[in-house]
Amino acid sequence: MYNGELLIERPLRWGMVGGGRTGQVGYKHRSGALRDGTYRLVAGAFDLDADRGRDFGTNLGVQPDRCYATYQDLIAGEAGRDDGVEVVSVATPNFTHYEITRALLEAGIHVICEKPLFFTVAECEEIAKLAAEKGLIVGVTYGFTGHPLVRQMAAMVAHGMLGEIRIVDLQYTHGFNAGDDTDAGEAVKWRTNPKTAGPTFVLGDIGTHLYYLSEVVLPDLKIERLLCDRKAFIPSRAPLEDHATVLMHYDNGARGRLWVSSVNAGNMGSQRYRFVGSKASVEWSDAHPDQLFYDVQGEPNRILHHGMPYLEPESLEVDRMGALHTEGLGDSWANIYLWIAQAIDAKRRGDEAFLKTHRYPGIEAGTEGVRWLENCVRSADAGAVWVDFE
Ligand code: NAD
Repeated sequence: MYNGELLIERPLRWGMVGGGRTGQVGYKHRSGALRDGTYRLVAGAFDLDADRGRDFGTNLGVQPDRCYATYQDLIAGEAGRDDGVEVVSVATPNFTHYEITRALLEAGIHVICEKPLFFTVAECEEIAKLAAEKGLIVGVTYGFTGHPLVRQMAAMVAHGMLGEIRIVDLQYTHGFNAGDDTDAGEAVKWRTNPKTAGPTFVLGDIGTHLYYLSEVVLPDLKIERLLCDRKAFIPSRAPLEDHATVLMHYDNGARGRLWVSSVNAGNMGSQRYRFVGSKASVEWSDAHPDQLFYDVQGEPNRILHHGMPYLEPESLEVDRMGALHTEGLGDSWANIYLWIAQAIDAKRRGDEAFLKTHRYPGIEAGTEGVRWLENCVRSADAGAVWVDFE
């Protein structure tokens, strides 16, 4: 069980670009980063509106002179300080991720960036090279994968408790975009425009969470081929999709199906994952994250609860609340931020041995998400045909 002790040499001086007062995801970053005292928020360019960003930042306790108007000002302002920012989170719309990440790395600052990481695999590979040259970490906030029951599923697969994996069934749907975009706010506007969202809408916005979580649970399975069918039920969103289904063939013969949609009217189920093996299946949903369904063929179905001693050690060591008390998305984000902090700390200390075995969503995870999106788009735009995974 993790009890909030500092697991790194000293707290990291942390900043944010985006995630301001009106931003949807900013609080999740702060609740994840600030939970354990592993990070201290010292600077930010929180908002496109500089005055609102400064007001917001000072309300968070950041010194007014370290609430900057732009990320360029943040880099310049922090560069001359002995106590300058060491790691910055990028919680801005997709089209800005690449340029902001690149500028931060060039300035010698570690980056924690939102998904989908960038628009192309080529951009990801370029940034991976730059980060390696600079000796810096790029973390990616796949926030759900820090949950101890995700670790439990991965451990059960690794320990052979499900048998050979046969079926991967993934769903992340909601109905918030079931209507048209006449009165859409900024967050919907940029998500439905290819110039600001990138080559996908829901596939990148929510599908990348499904894909990364499945990679965490099934690290040894690789996709060989996939078929993606995407559609904009609201025509103004085309060529981007508000609904997609993806069929996947894995290299061990397993079959996968994935459904993402923001037009699943009335649905509040959010995410659901089912991994079916030759002996048993596990199923987890963030709608009831404390419970993991464990269905062994021929036996009564079981519900496993987080924090209970019958779970695998890999799950128990990252549990925070203990059994009987709810463990949710905030705890999951706190783990993700902690694991990224440990990677940054190890990098600073030159501890490459630690980094070899340490698991956290880094640049490779971000790159694989973008690679999956590129394959989905190639399949869908050729008329929903099977394509070899490249
Ligand atoms: P949003 O439109 O709600 O908020 C964006 C914020 O960034 C606003 O505060 C805006 O003022 C600010 N901003 C925009 N450009 C900026 C710039 N150049 N400099 C400084 N600030 C700038 O968007 P959102 O829904 O919070 O999404 C932001 C990112 O987070 C997206 O990449 C999205 O895909 C991702 N996201 C991830 C999760 C997750 O669970 N990991 C959840 C929601 C969103």
